[in-house]
This record gives sequence, structure tokens and C-alpha cells, in this order.
Amino acid sequence: KLNIFWFRRDLRLFDNTGLYYAQNEKKPVLPIFIFDTEILNDLVDKKDARVSFIHHTLKEIDLQLKKLGSGLLILHGKPEEVFEKLIKDYEIDTVFTNRDYEPYAKERDQKIDDLLKKNGIDFLDFKDHVIFEEKEILNGSEEPYKVFTPYKNKWLESLKNNQLQPFDVQLSVDKFYQFEPEFPDLESIGFEKSTIEIADKSYPEEIIKKYDKLRDYPAKNGTSRLGIHLRFGTISIRQAVKKAQALNDTWLNELIWREFYSMILGNFPHVMNAAFKSKYDAIPWRNEEEDFEKWCQGKTGYPIVDAGMRELNSTGYMHNRVRMITASFLTKHLLIDWRWGEAYFAEKLLDYELSSNNGGWQWAAGTGTDAQPYFRIFNPYSQTDKFDKENKYIKKWIPELNTKEYPEPMVDHKFARQRALDTYKQALDQ
Ligand code: FAD
Repeated sequence: KLNIFWFRRDLRLFDNTGLYYAQNEKKPVLPIFIFDTEILNDLVDKKDARVSFIHHTLKEIDLQLKKLGSGLLILHGKPEEVFEKLIKDYEIDTVFTNRDYEPYAKERDQKIDDLLKKNGIDFLDFKDHVIFEEKEILNGSEEPYKVFTPYKNKWLESLKNNQLQPFDVQLSVDKFYQFEPEFPDLESIGFEKSTIEIADKSYPEEIIKKYDKLRDYPAKNGTSRLGIHLRFGTISIRQAVKKAQALNDTWLNELIWREFYSMILGNFPHVMNAAFKSKYDAIPWRNEEEDFEKWCQGKTGYPIVDAGMRELNSTGYMHNRVRMITASFLTKHLLIDWRWGEAYFAEKLLDYELSSNNGGWQWAAGTGTDAQPYFRIFNPYSQTDKFDKENKYIKKWIPELNTKEYPEPMVDHKFARQRALDTYKQALDQ
């Protein structure tokens, strides 16, 4: 008999909770990864950089495991069907994995659990992706928090050093199932290699040390760029929090925002499709398709907005300050439903995380937790004065700025501001 360890968004062979527990049993571990067609079929771009990144990372894991006489079994299909076959092919004792908190994943795991149970196989899942899960940080009345600062204070109070202890994985031959799996290429799962480059997973310590001072300036290299690594678990959150404690409190604060939004999605899953504060569902969005296209392509005539969208389109990344500005512009200046912008970011961002993306969009639209009040509308020009005074970031992404080729502003700022104020007010007064 053997144990299976199912990798998902924890793509590393160190400090991995589920893998650690799988190894503590006396049976060898068969490591698997499933390219889930339910997820892949939704991706439009066959050169999706995230799929390339996952494939590349899995290959590294496979190479490490091959040195131990084992390997990573890569599967492709609907997870339930894949498991039906695994049950036939192997004598499985227990399936170990780390918890994934997204609604689709929860549903999928429930089905797998049922299937395995029917076949007398245990399914054990572990906390690995966060320090605190959705029900672990509650207020005095045992309810989830809805506002960040008190949540953060309780989070910090609750954090004990032993929660940051690594779950050491043993890289030894006797711990892994011995076999020689073949490693499939990207094409065999219907994808091609992306040309987008991804920063490696080492901690840029000098940048993190100055994070509080430089993080708001998009022309500066002032943030960690570790988002994609946190998303797919190529770094461990325990290690990241330890680094943050040693290097910069503001950076720790951001890691807590990540947990806050994960907690919000877990406890208030309606945010997936609707406003956190329901009365905001009454806003009559204009949803002009042409306007949306201009925003997507970075052709609004607002340089800071266009620079951001172009950065996103060509690199799969956008600086946080500019994410806030572009999101505010789409929802307030153009009165386009935040869900349209959310979906566009989801398609493009390498660090796309449902909970954080949803939280960021609802914050910008004023519909979410802790949102800025709707009557405070970002002025793209004064944001530029504050955070890109010399237009360095703007010029990097808009070479044709100050030429005839660059479009006039698609809408007047003052007019759009007033229209947003009136529309929100009317909807909320009803
Ligand atoms: P750093 O600034 O170095 O921060 C370190 C890590 O902390 C990040 O990698 C991330 O995991 C976390 N973090 C930082 N800021 C936030 C935040 N405000 N909320 C939640 N977590 C945070 N972040 C995502 O990880 N995925 C998304 O899909 C996403 N979509 C966003 C959409 C909008 C409209 C906005 C306003 C913000 C969004 N963010 C998202 C939050 C933030 O912009 C990114 O996490 C950050 O820009 C990533 O850059 P970095 O890796 O250099 O992070």
C-alpha cells in the first residue's frame, strides 16, 4: 500500500504541511499533480504564463524526486475521473493534500473525499496556504471580522512562534514510491510555452527592508514581486512571515491583507458574484463595451491608467498603486461593473488570487469591506503628481505620450466624477 500526496497550490518540496504528514506514515508516498481540465478549459490564451510557470516548477520537482528513484506523476483530466483510475491502478491507503479555500476547490475536494471514502480510502487535508484559516481569527462575539485593522490586531496577537515552524520534508529514497514516470511536455496538455518572464522566488531583502518607503512608487523597484510564488506555493507563507518580521512591518501588514481577503471569501462567499455590502448591488452600471475595450487596451487618454493596463497586458503584472487607480477609473469614471474588471485582471495577472483580486476590486468600487467611501474618487492626475511625478513609469509604457498618436482623455475628469457621485448617491438613497 502507498500514500498519495496531491500537489495543488503548494508546489515545493520543503516546509510543506501535507507532504510532511504523508511522510510520517510508514508507507511510501506517491506524489501526483493533476492538470485539471475543468480549470484549463476556461483559459483562453494557450500561452498562459501561469500554466507555463506551473509546468516549469513541476519539472523541477520531478527532477529532484527522480534523484530519489521516484518522480512526480502528472495527470490530466477531471479530478474525479483521474482518481477513479488511480484507485484501480494503485493500492492506496490515504490521500494527503493541502487545503484550497476557493469555492470551486472546496466543491471538488468534497467530491473526491466522497469517492475515496466509498473505496475505503482516507482523504486528509491540511492548513498550509495561510497562517490562520477563516474561522481561526474571530471577534469577541465569535463572528468573523469585517474590517481590516481589528482583524490585523487579533491576527498579530494570536500569532505564536510555533505557528511558523517549518514542516520539514525528508528528501530520502525510502520515503517515496519508487517508479519512473514520464514527464509530459506542455503541448500534450494543449498549451505552449509563454514568453513572459517571471521573477525567481528568492526574497529581495534590500527591497523588502525599504518597502514602507518605496512601495507606492510604480517607477521604483519597491515591492517583492513574490505574488505568484505565494499563489502557487513555490514559497511558504510561514517562511514569508518570518522574513517580514525580521525585515519590515509594512510588508507583514500586506501578508495579513492576503489572509484577510481569504477569510472574507471563506466566510462571505457571496462576494464571488455580488457586492459585499448588498445595497451596492443597486448601482446601475453603464457597461459601455467600447469604453471597456479602451480601458483594456490602455487607450483611455489618462496616462497613468493606460500605463498600468499596458504593463498588465505585456507582463502579467501591475503595480499595486496603479491597480487601485485603474480599478477606480473603470468603476467610477466609466461606471463599468467591477466584475468586468475583476474578470479581466483574473485572465491577465500572474499573481491572480480570487480572494485578493475580488477584495481589491470591491475596495476600489466602494462595494467591499473597508472600502473607501464612494464619494472619495481617485483623481488620476493628482495620483500621478504624488506617485509618478516625473512621469517615469508613464513614459516607460507610453512611448507615444505627447504625440498626436496618443488619444485625448475619453471622458472629462470633472464630469465623470460628478456622474459617479450622482449615480452612487441615487442608487444608495433608494
Ligand atoms: P508586495 O507588495 O511585495 O506584497 C507581498 C505580498 O503580500 C503580495 O505578493 C501579496 O501576496 C500580498 N499582498 C500585498 N498587497 C495585498 C493586498 N492589497 N491584498 C491582498 N494581498 C496583498 N494581489 C494578489 O495576490 N492577487 C490578485 O489577484 C490581486 N488583485 C488585485 C486587484 C486590485 C484591483 C487591487 C487594488 C489589488 C490586487 N492585489 C492582488 C493586491 C496587490 O496589488 C498585489 O498583491 C501586489 O501588487 C503584488 O505585488 P508584489 O508581489 O510585489 O507584492
